[in-house]
Amino acid sequence: MSTLSSPLPICIAGAWRPGRGDLYHSRYPATDEAVACLHAASLDDVEEAVQGAQRAFDASGWPQWKPHQRARVLYRVAEGIRARSEELAQLQRLDNGKPIRETRALVASAADTFQFFAAACETLEDSVTPSRGDYLSLSLHEPMGVVAAITPWNSPIASEAQKLAPALAAGNAVVLKPAEATPLLALELARVCEQAGLPKGLLSVLPGKGSLIGDAIVRHPLVRRVAFTGGTATGRHIAALAAQKLMPVSLELGGKSPTIVFADADLDHAVAGVLYGIFSSSGESCVAGSRLFIARPLYADFIARLSAGARRLRLGDPADPLTQMGPLISAAHREQVEAHVARALEDGGRLLCGGERPRGALFDRGHYYPPTIVDGLDNQARLCRDEVFGPVLAALPFDDEADLIAQANDSVYALAAGVWTRDAQRAWRLARALQAGTVWINTYKQFSAATPFGGWRDSGLGREKGRHGILQYMEQKGVYWGLNPEPLPWTN
Ligand code: NAD
Repeated sequence: MSTLSSPLPICIAGAWRPGRGDLYHSRYPATDEAVACLHAASLDDVEEAVQGAQRAFDASGWPQWKPHQRARVLYRVAEGIRARSEELAQLQRLDNGKPIRETRALVASAADTFQFFAAACETLEDSVTPSRGDYLSLSLHEPMGVVAAITPWNSPIASEAQKLAPALAAGNAVVLKPAEATPLLALELARVCEQAGLPKGLLSVLPGKGSLIGDAIVRHPLVRRVAFTGGTATGRHIAALAAQKLMPVSLELGGKSPTIVFADADLDHAVAGVLYGIFSSSGESCVAGSRLFIARPLYADFIARLSAGARRLRLGDPADPLTQMGPLISAAHREQVEAHVARALEDGGRLLCGGERPRGALFDRGHYYPPTIVDGLDNQARLCRDEVFGPVLAALPFDDEADLIAQANDSVYALAAGVWTRDAQRAWRLARALQAGTVWINTYKQFSAATPFGGWRDSGLGREKGRHGILQYMEQKGVYWGLNPEPLPWTN
């Protein structure tokens, strides 16, 4: 780990050295204290990292290693993360301000992701396709070369693992650009990969501004694919650049996910699930269940229980294992969240809880914002359309299932949805009718490396995770192997 007196080295083409960009600090959002200083990558560093990645791809032999040999390195990465799990969880808490109980879970999930893709790598099968002539025909997959991974600040290490593990398993080299605010875990992950035996230069980590460093990585002619997680506007920009290069991209973007509570739901489970769905990670979650539809007969009672539950949530010191909500990532982001709430009240919304910065010694230096619930708006209101990316829930009553489905689907976003009901047939109808990359039934915000994840419409393009997630980082190739003892007839 760095000290504040010596800038942290970054990982460029197999060498650990300071970046050649501006000096900046990673700050602890709970106190605004600097926890590390580092020089960002420069444009020259991008060039060096991408050229180095291409050289490592061409010369290290990694793409030609047998799948079980690559898998062995990935299993070691999983174990390397586990061996340092508490240290990494504490570091992530400092980098990002999430409560320690969440950062422990994210570190564990990163290890699981590497383990899963190690297994996917060594069990991936190509196929012999049905022959339609005198040849053997095969469908094979090849690594792409240098791929880029660009990640946001809200779930460091888990987001990075989700891209790195399948990309490396597929035999590629990776240039990783973490969010400027949260560079520390990506750098530590590169150390773990190096110690696990990943060939030098195959992975570079380039902290820095997205508009400069991220943009240069995406534009680089040697970068063959980009896996991006972040905001929809940035995703659109990257997709436009990728179109010029005819380069595949996957985009995991924003959301405005509906959660639906039917009158027959188990109400204790639904209250707990809705609170967790929107307020865990302080709402800084792409899948936050930020639009809540409640069956009208239940509305007043449910909203009262929910508001009481929200007021009981423990907002506070991220180092305390009992803390449920930490600070937001930055002062600027908190101001944006406040502006969303102010607009909602201007639009006629009624504040049911939260809506004001907490006061007291614990909160004064950090960017805290309390769990906030607003109702009295319709689904067209700005709070129901715009992603807040903070702990703000819009609650609405509904009367009729068909109208509810239409409202839930009436959003440019389509990332996730939640349904709370005891009626299995209704659960199934909703699971099929809701337009979303993920639907949770009687649960929320559960993730598995084995289950594909991604969004529709403005929530993204492509899928990550799942057994076939590895194929996103490979080019498919058809091979025809002639078996005819005679020359091709045309030559006769
Ligand atoms: P962001 O789009 O500002 O930044 C994401 C990453 O892209 C950062 O590393 C940033 O430096 C980089 N970047 C910014 N501009 C770039 C450019 N022009 N070219 C290349 N790279 C660039 O998003 P953020 O504020 O870090 O994260 C919040 C957003 O991410 C929210 O909208 C949230 O919904 C979304 N998100 C989505 C998922 C998902 O899986 N769907 C997960 C987490 C976050």
